[in-house]
Amino acid sequence: MNEEKKILVVDDDPNLRKTLADILRVKGYATAIASTGAEAIAAMEAGGINLALIDLMLPDMHGLEVMARLKAMLPMTEAIILTGNASMDTAIEATRQGAFSYLTKPYHMDDLLRNIEHGVERQQTREEILRLASFPRLDPNPVIEIDSAGEISYLNPAAERLFPGLGAQGVSHPLLRDATERIEGLRQDKEQGKRLEQAAIGETTYELQIYYVQEVNLIRIYVDDISQRKRDEMEIYLLAITDGLTGITNRREFTAILGREVARAKRYGTPLALAMYDLDHFKLVNDTFGHDVGDDVLRTVTGLVQKKLRSTDIMARWGGEEFMVLMPQTAAPAAGNAAEKLRLAIAEHHFDKVGKLTVSFGVTIFELADDLDSLLKRVDDALYLAKEQGRNCVAMLPKEMASPVGTID
Ligand code: GH3
Ligand code: MG
Ligand code: MG
Repeated sequence: MNEEKKILVVDDDPNLRKTLADILRVKGYATAIASTGAEAIAAMEAGGINLALIDLMLPDMHGLEVMARLKAMLPMTEAIILTGNASMDTAIEATRQGAFSYLTKPYHMDDLLRNIEHGVERQQTREEILRLASFPRLDPNPVIEIDSAGEISYLNPAAERLFPGLGAQGVSHPLLRDATERIEGLRQDKEQGKRLEQAAIGETTYELQIYYVQEVNLIRIYVDDISQRKRDEMEIYLLAITDGLTGITNRREFTAILGREVARAKRYGTPLALAMYDLDHFKLVNDTFGHDVGDDVLRTVTGLVQKKLRSTDIMARWGGEEFMVLMPQTAAPAAGNAAEKLRLAIAEHHFDKVGKLTVSFGVTIFELADDLDSLLKRVDDALYLAKEQGRNCVAMLPKEMASPVGTID
């Protein structure tokens, strides 16, 4: 089962060398043997070594030197130092310089075998990291890795190119800042699975797919530019809430907004006014100038009204040539006056091809007993009243609110 794992034994004692090599072969390892530093280096050049057992006292070279050459030539290869009691300090120094472990002679064979087994395991893990890391290298999208200390340990070329400051700034970089808690959570819990996070840098929106990769104990983050997807979603959303002809809020969206405003007015007792207007004798415009001219008129009317509205007012197309204007925080006289201003703006406008045109307004104020339907019914009644009173005017319901309206004209 250990056939592919090759152990290099570097020792100048021929008996020890042979005994060790024999035992390792019995345990299923392949072996290479060297009695000097020079032979060890030659064996390393041949490659394929997973782990080296290095005696510190060699005739031509210090064991530390051999290990340094090994680490330079085969960085993934682990080293175990074998030493006599006299050179304990050097052995400790060797682990500081990257040796996997050291054993003092005479050692127990069981200890040595266990150390070899663990050393080979670590070597395999490091190769696995390298292998995994080579996939992100080729990924055209940014890939970021965060190690067990919470530091960025790897950026693929795409990440380095797109986020120049990322390496230096680490998790405080704008790309990762909002995801820091999730990254830290995954890192601490070592929980397998994916977390999604979004980050916006300028006009660009990125989606972060954050993984904890168990076998290498690191967080890997795949970064996708989802700006186009966001734009598409926004376009679909806007299409769903706006009227195709005039570009203003459509009936469905307005009903939702009105529902929320009614609930707010009920809860906080804030005033709320609703106006509805309808073009006067619009059928005649269509019949005389054609439907396309009629469409232009509808766009012009909504443009004229929109210009006069406050930013908090919301206008919507309710039906063919009927429109709603919601005026939050507005009480009776102000609402009537606002509608009157809008009526005048249209009455004073000269429409291309058509000439003069008028609209009629119904206006109502929210009352505590109202719900959505009763409010809509009353504004429709008010509009009907305006039509009855001869059109090109504002009518208010309930009637007692109507006093100041129409006096501006
Ligand atoms: P009133 O003063 O009583 O409101 O008269 P009116 O002619 O405006 O009312 P009526 O309800 O009889 O006609 C409304 C017209 O609006 C009929 C319809 O063809 C037209 N209309 C509705 N939607 C559109 C539209 O999107 N484009 C055009 N060009 N005309 C539309
Ligand atoms: Mg009409
Ligand atoms: Mg109508």
